[in-house]
Amino acid sequence: MPGTLSFDDLKSRVSDGSIDTVLVCLVDMQGRLMGKRFHAANFIEISYDETHCCNYLLATDLEMATPDGYASTSWQSGYGDYVMKPDRETIRPVPWLEGTAMVLCDVLDHHTHDPVPHAPRAVLKKQIARLEALGFTAMMATELEFFLFERSFDALRKDGYRNLDPISGYNEDYHILQTTKEEVVMRPLRNHLYAAGLPVENTKGEAEAGQEELNIRYAPALDCADHHTIAKHAVKEIAWQAGHAATFLPKWSADRVGSSSHVHQSLWKDKIALFQDSEDPLGMSDLMKHYMAGLIAYAPEYMVFLAPYVNSYKRFAKGTFAPTKTVWSVDNRTAGFRLCGVGTKGVRVECRIGGSDLNPYLAQAGMLAAGIKGIEDKMELAPATKGDVYEDADAQEIPRTLRAATETLQGSAMLRAAMGDDVIDHYTRAAEWEQEEYDRAVTDWEIARGFERA
Ligand code: ADP
Repeated sequence: MPGTLSFDDLKSRVSDGSIDTVLVCLVDMQGRLMGKRFHAANFIEISYDETHCCNYLLATDLEMATPDGYASTSWQSGYGDYVMKPDRETIRPVPWLEGTAMVLCDVLDHHTHDPVPHAPRAVLKKQIARLEALGFTAMMATELEFFLFERSFDALRKDGYRNLDPISGYNEDYHILQTTKEEVVMRPLRNHLYAAGLPVENTKGEAEAGQEELNIRYAPALDCADHHTIAKHAVKEIAWQAGHAATFLPKWSADRVGSSSHVHQSLWKDKIALFQDSEDPLGMSDLMKHYMAGLIAYAPEYMVFLAPYVNSYKRFAKGTFAPTKTVWSVDNRTAGFRLCGVGTKGVRVECRIGGSDLNPYLAQAGMLAAGIKGIEDKMELAPATKGDVYEDADAQEIPRTLRAATETLQGSAMLRAAMGDDVIDHYTRAAEWEQEEYDRAVTDWEIARGFERA
């Protein structure tokens, strides 16, 4: 499989003329690529070492507004610069854009050159380092679900996002005939991502009209998050190139199934699968049980990282495959956590709570922090639940609103100890702002319901 490019590979591609543009990108709080397009000659001569960006990039909302209340930056402090430090391990071609390569950056303080703690890559790296200090490596896979639409982003925006017609007319779960009709987007997506060094496994139709799933082979946690981010970006760009639109909004219609991002996780040491124990009836090691106990117990505390917006919470409904309870089950899709790969080296836990809008760095960091706590405290895993978990009255509920999840994040002693007060305060503020903006909005629903009848 063609992998990432070394810096020397990049230099030769620039000198043979096959690459003329380098995208130098950081990952923002929303999990988006932000940065600059460099002329490749400038990048390989000068900017490979560092470039700069306004520090508001880690303190804006989706619409690039500049909320107050962040300690890291403000109008008061003059919105100075961050250093964008290219991580040269991540240089790769971007085959769906002509003559283009990409590099991901770490974000550093402009004066001290220390990592900025709330930058999503830094948040995840910190938890990976804690896990490595215990002697473990986390292997992760995030599934990407999204919808494709008949019309383009521009056409839909100009129409006020009305008449959102999905690219297909019926539920296309595992459907080969219908997904053949979508190969104009999905085939280049698979092939371009693969050529960019992402180990694409497959795409499939999902359980709603126009809904797709992209699976990428599991990888060390940081690579997994990088893959997710690049793949999500590629979905939108390749759909746009084909005259279509793609959305990762978890719930774009009240009447349709939502989109999720399930996260598969396992711990390894070198090539040894540490979650496996062939003596155990389900093949689960004690390490796995402790990790899962932490993962489940602390789910309400890292919920904001799985569901960061008001819309994220509209997905959670009984009988939709979007779980509402923080319990685990064996190969049962109604529980928040599903045991997969029973009896194999690939035994793993899948968290099914996260929406398609999660930031994969923050979501994985939250889950690793919880799992590490479970291991450190040797937490006991309760027995698996059975049957329809939606009806299990004893099971712990996930926070059902952004407001509730923000409170559990803010009050989480576990996450404060694992990530730092500055990081938790930063993301608490981001979540509060989303709620404040929503509370200010007057929606179509309110007008239609009350205009005449109130
Ligand atoms: P499903 O039954 O959900 O379709 P798959 O076999 O397609 O399951 O696996 C789902 C995801 O789990 C894939 O992206 C795969 O790479 C990942 N996966 C497989 N083994 C492991 C593991 N040991 N740790 C983490 N992720 C894994």
